Amino acid sequence: MDCELCQAPAGQLLHEDERLRVLLVDEAGYPGFCRVIWKAHVREMSDLSDKDRLHLLDWVQYTEAALRHILKPAKINLASLGNMVPHLHWHVIPRFEDDAHFPAPIWAAARRDGAVRHWPDLAGQLRSQLADAASHCWLNYQIQVTQVPDGLEGADLACYRFFAESGLAWPVDGVDADGRHWLALRRVDDNGASSVETLRLEAGSYRLVPGVPSYQATLLR
Ligand SMILES: [Zn+2]
Repeated sequence: MDCELCQAPAGQLLHEDERLRVLLVDEAGYPGFCRVIWKAHVREMSDLSDKDRLHLLDWVQYTEAALRHILKPAKINLASLGNMVPHLHWHVIPRFEDDAHFPAPIWAAARRDGAVRHWPDLAGQLRSQLADAASHCWLNYQIQVTQVPDGLEGADLACYRFFAESGLAWPVDGVDADGRHWLALRRVDDNGASSVETLRLEAGSYRLVPGVPSYQATLLR
């Protein structure tokens, strides 16, 4: 298929996962112009499943937030056109009142010579912001415990077995600074008293299952 977004999308890679890429595009007069590009050759938003659409919109939002944090623009423009290249992608464009087209869209006739702006290591700064956003992405996932690690005892062993033997996917309750995910199990004893046990999951003992974002997930500290 002769599609440039399937083959080699232009720009500096800021984030990539199994479903999409975020790229910083070199567009004269428009520093911070980013594209969020779906990897599969899909035409329209309504071709995506609910989960995929939420994932794409989350990353458009993370990109917007990173650009606002670093560039502090007058406005962010979001656009998904695809008339020239019908492969699903979003433009995320920081706008300034003294850019060449403001307040018209950047594709309109220019109104002035735009101001020149430069941010040192903009790609690096955006990558860092997006990595931070990605670390919160556990909200988009559930966890299925696939095996009980060796060497566990007592409550940890019982808790691990409970999650593993259930065969179910559970909303993630948190993630450590080192990236380990954890689950919280509320126990109720014979007297009705409840307690919460938290289980830090070991690498290789679980898998992440894409889920509907569970923003109401309880984060226990
Ligand atoms: Zn394509």
